[in-house]
Amino acid sequence: KGRVSGKVAIVTGAASGLGYAIAAMLAREGAVVTLTDVNEAAGTEAAARIGAAARFVRQDVVEEEGWKALVAGTVARDGGLHILVNNAGIGLSPGKRDPEHAPLEQWQRINKVNGEGVFLGCKHAIPAMRDSGGGSIINLSSIAALVATPFLTAYGFSKAGVAQLSKSVALYCAQGRTRIRCNSVHPGQIYTPMLDSLFDELSAGHGITREQAREAFLSKIPMGEFGEPDDIAYAVLYLASDEAKHVTGTQVVVDGGMNLN
Ligand code: NAD
Repeated sequence: KGRVSGKVAIVTGAASGLGYAIAAMLAREGAVVTLTDVNEAAGTEAAARIGAAARFVRQDVVEEEGWKALVAGTVARDGGLHILVNNAGIGLSPGKRDPEHAPLEQWQRINKVNGEGVFLGCKHAIPAMRDSGGGSIINLSSIAALVATPFLTAYGFSKAGVAQLSKSVALYCAQGRTRIRCNSVHPGQIYTPMLDSLFDELSAGHGITREQAREAFLSKIPMGEFGEPDDIAYAVLYLASDEAKHVTGTQVVVDGGMNLN
């Protein structure tokens, strides 16, 4: 029997990176999983790779009507909703991202996807989870919510917001005796397409090689290695399962010690 057997899950931004690893692990541990993403081709392929327990629905997390349809469709098809992983996020919009030069449009776009996207997910999951007898919402924040990163101004702001939003949702749901829990997960540097594109950009922008950019990142991780997507998926799996039935409003940091610096 899997650790989330019989549960119904939605994972946003699951076409690649952490979202895919999370969706695959939840399916492996017995959940029925809907993967969503704006990238339809990659999302369809990702769901097919996971197998019969997975399906793909195209979704942009900033669209409220889409959330309504997604949640209603999931409940109608799978009989309820128990797990929502708000994973979709962006960090690398074009242009400089320091507080002196970051364009306003970039600030707005990052905060829209990372902030409003998570808010809307929580908002529409709560009634469906209440009707399902309880559930677990897991929001992907970041190490950038806990330590300062000068070139990730809007990103850090949005991810700190995600952490605080998670606590508000947790308290609201606890006081309402809903059996809905909400926690945030804070990855450090996990090797995914998002991190990979950051090396490219840093090497181009600073006249260093890609390898030097990679080394600069590695030097910030006390344990001396990048995380793997499954390191995050295991944390999410725990929070999604009944093993964490008394855990709400917490921040689970998975960062090889980065926050200690
Ligand atoms: P990624 O870029 O590999 O994957 C993100 C996915 O989200 C992509 O498939 C993308 O198409 C999708 N997406 C983007 N905008 C969307 C939207 N509006 N609606 C629906 N889907 C959308 O990124 P990742 O590294 O797997 O990161 C996943 C989450 O973890 C993000 O929230 C990210 O901020 C967070 N995170 C990642 C790291 C890391 O080291 N990789 C560190 C800290 C936090």
